Amino acid sequence: KPSSPVLQVSGLGKRYGERAAVSDVSFEVGRNEIVGLLGPNGAGKTTTLNMVLGVLEPSAGRILIEGFDVQRQRRKALERTNFAAVYAPLPGNLTVYENLRFFGLLYAVRNLARRIETLIEQFDLVRFRDTRCGVLSSGEQTRVCLAKAMLNMPQLLLLDEPTASLDPATARDIRAQIKAIATHGSGGILWTSHNMLEVQEVCDRVLFLSRGRILLQGDPRTLPQQHGEATLDDLFVKLAHANAA
Ligand code: ATP
Repeated sequence: KPSSPVLQVSGLGKRYGERAAVSDVSFEVGRNEIVGLLGPNGAGKTTTLNMVLGVLEPSAGRILIEGFDVQRQRRKALERTNFAAVYAPLPGNLTVYENLRFFGLLYAVRNLARRIETLIEQFDLVRFRDTRCGVLSSGEQTRVCLAKAMLNMPQLLLLDEPTASLDPATARDIRAQIKAIATHGSGGILWTSHNMLEVQEVCDRVLFLSRGRILLQGDPRTLPQQHGEATLDDLFVKLAHANAA
């Protein structure tokens, strides 16, 4: 199904007892599309990503990855997916090469040795090949996390604040690499960020989440004006204040 969306989420919900972390969330990610999931701290972004990744069981709704249901066709759905997140560092006692080999074996990547060499080149990791990941800088670790996330050539790539701890130059490199992944592959990317300038540069479309619900969505370059605000930052602040608990 080459033109169907990579990810289809419908009516997604997650409750913790009385508390709803995510409510009736529906959206799609298309091919070669980068969709930004925005919202204040606690809005439900990570909870949503974790349900898409199959690590959290939804209380309601359905998630299809390449048409495969994450709950019912778990293996088929998840082998087409991967992720990188600032809070999920790689095993620090393994070297860059060992980490990529470990996850490559876990994902049963074909021609693994060649794939690792390609990724080490692509993410500028040649000089860190035999360095333990635990001693790498944040930027270097992010590059290793991205290389690890690309091992299985995922159709759906989930990125949770991939540039959060990076200096401006490194963040720019990472953004360029992420855009290249979306442009050259056949998959789509769903990412979270609190940097609105970055969001405008990278995302084709954004979803604004507040208290577990999608408040609005659209093109990050035109959304502010449509809502009478000068910048995406201003729009964010307005929405966050209007929906504060
Ligand atoms: P941030 O930008 O700070 O990362 P977020 O949008 O990713 O925030 P989530 O981490 O998804 O937000 O949290 C959504 C809500 O769900 C929060 O109010 C949080 O307290 C709540 N929550 C998350 N996990 C649990 C849990 N295991 N038990 C109870 N409440 C939870």
